Amino acid sequence: MSKKTIDQLDVRGKKIFIRADFNVPQNDDGSISDDRRIRSTIPTIESVLKRGGSVIVASHLGRPEGKGHEPQYSMKAVAQRLRELLAGIAGTVHLSSVLPSQAHAEAAALKAGEVLLLENLRFEKGEKKGDAQFAAAIAPYADAYCNDAFGASHRNDASMLALPLAMKPKPCVAGFLLSKELKFLGETLENARKPFVAILGGAKVSDKLPALEHMIGKVDSIIVGGAMAYTFLLAQGIAVGSSRVEKDLVEKAKGILELAKSRATKILLPADHNCAREFKADTQKNIFAGAIDDGWMGLDIGPQSAKLFASEIAKAKTVIWNGPMGVFEMPPFDAGTLAVAHAVIQATKSGATTVAGGGDTAAALEIAGLSSDVSHVSTGGGASLEMLEGKKFESLVPIDEA
Ligand code: AMP
Repeated sequence: MSKKTIDQLDVRGKKIFIRADFNVPQNDDGSISDDRRIRSTIPTIESVLKRGGSVIVASHLGRPEGKGHEPQYSMKAVAQRLRELLAGIAGTVHLSSVLPSQAHAEAAALKAGEVLLLENLRFEKGEKKGDAQFAAAIAPYADAYCNDAFGASHRNDASMLALPLAMKPKPCVAGFLLSKELKFLGETLENARKPFVAILGGAKVSDKLPALEHMIGKVDSIIVGGAMAYTFLLAQGIAVGSSRVEKDLVEKAKGILELAKSRATKILLPADHNCAREFKADTQKNIFAGAIDDGWMGLDIGPQSAKLFASEIAKAKTVIWNGPMGVFEMPPFDAGTLAVAHAVIQATKSGATTVAGGGDTAAALEIAGLSSDVSHVSTGGGASLEMLEGKKFESLVPIDEA
């Protein structure tokens, strides 16, 4: 089943409420450090404006506590970036409060080609609570609802679920970004071409265990790197020095290794490690093959592991990647992540479908200048992981079927 998309909706003379994910990282001075999430929703906004509609767009930003306006979480910088990105496309881009006392009249006065950006939805306590009353107050602003906020679609915040429900029987559609994310993370993975290789990394095993477990039996092999590999190595009785481990998950990790064996899913763990005495770049370093000595911590996969992982990735027709192989923010411990990134790019060039998800994986690809070379880079961290866990999102239920 696929969802109806914005281009399938007649928008001429209509006001479209677009729930976007403009939860962008900001510098200390409030400027936006990475605008990828804003850029990713421009095609949806543009599609409405170019066909004679107007747009009311809203998002959350950061974690305000729902106690009204907090200047550090204002959408001001987002409004400015939207103005720049929509120059020559939108008539005006105006920033308004979410509340009906201001927004209702502004939405009513909106003309074709104009954009009204609402302030941070989480300024209102009803948003996080998924409050139906809050949603009912916003529902009259527009003639149709469009979900383009993949990054928030695993949450049942009011603007994600109660709002489209309150707007029914008005049309509810998916934006281009949401529909692309669902295509790559849902359909592609459900019907993945084999061999199917999953690459999981990052700091916390606990975050990724449900996804890892769900993929056993579905993928041919799972490459595990990053700090999470050390909990698995410990489960195999291999010494890991002072590397980061989650001791309470060692038994669980053992169980997962057994399960994988019984379902013929290969789990590849790093065979060598780029280690340091302390968690910093300018300290004594050493490469350990197999066991890591006491007093050393693994901060990246070693060169042998990078080769082993790359040759597994080279065989793949489908690759899903979530999480770095090491502390990629701190060279030289970025080498393993970069080697895997290049292997994934090479696989893409050879015709594999490659999907990268999670903020750190996207950041690593961005740093390497390789983002555009994979089939898809997901804008959603938590949401993309939950899709890999096989979860169904309630927020997608109100979206009309095509
Ligand atoms: P996550 O949010 O779980 O995807 O983890 C991403 C973080 O894991 C990044 O900030 C990496 O620096 C960190 N990381 C990756 N490998 C290691 C490691 N071996 N030791 C400590 N942190 C790591």
